[in-house]
Amino acid sequence: MRTRSHSTAFCLQKGWVIKINCDLCGKIDERLNRALIEGVELNVCSACSKFGKVLAPVKRYTPKEYHKMVQKMEEKEEKVDLLAEGYADIIKKGRESMGLTQKDFANKINEKESTIHKIEIGALEPSLHLAKKLEKALGVKIIEEYEERHEALNRKKEEGFTLGDFIRIKK
Ligand SMILES: [Zn+2]
Repeated sequence: MRTRSHSTAFCLQKGWVIKINCDLCGKIDERLNRALIEGVELNVCSACSKFGKVLAPVKRYTPKEYHKMVQKMEEKEEKVDLLAEGYADIIKKGRESMGLTQKDFANKINEKESTIHKIEIGALEPSLHLAKKLEKALGVKIIEEYEERHEALNRKKEEGFTLGDFIRIKK
């Protein structure tokens, strides 16, 4: 889940996407600077720029660039982890190939024997946490990353843009 920063907002103004709030004091300033303050890169107002080293003025985005970024962000967000269809068999075969009984295997990973049994017969879907644990213990792959794409822009339009989003996209 993305976290939202309260002191940061973007707005669409005169055809430009402008980051308007200082990351430090929250002041609305159209001319923010990208500055290095105590080892952290922040977008700050001119007053707060004094606390660190100014790297560059904050880049402003055209709507086209903005939409591209939102789309990218949306693609990232829509990745969902799902259990592979044959997860039960994969786990069973993985366990057997290690020469472990259900009980041995359950003990090894601190789970109940009944849990392993149910998973192997497909009666129980492991949580993502447990699935990851099983993958690691057995050296198998049972989680599939699923990607869905929707009408990203329509949903995002009113939500605005936060510092969290900004950092994510920059990577
Ligand atoms: Zn400031």
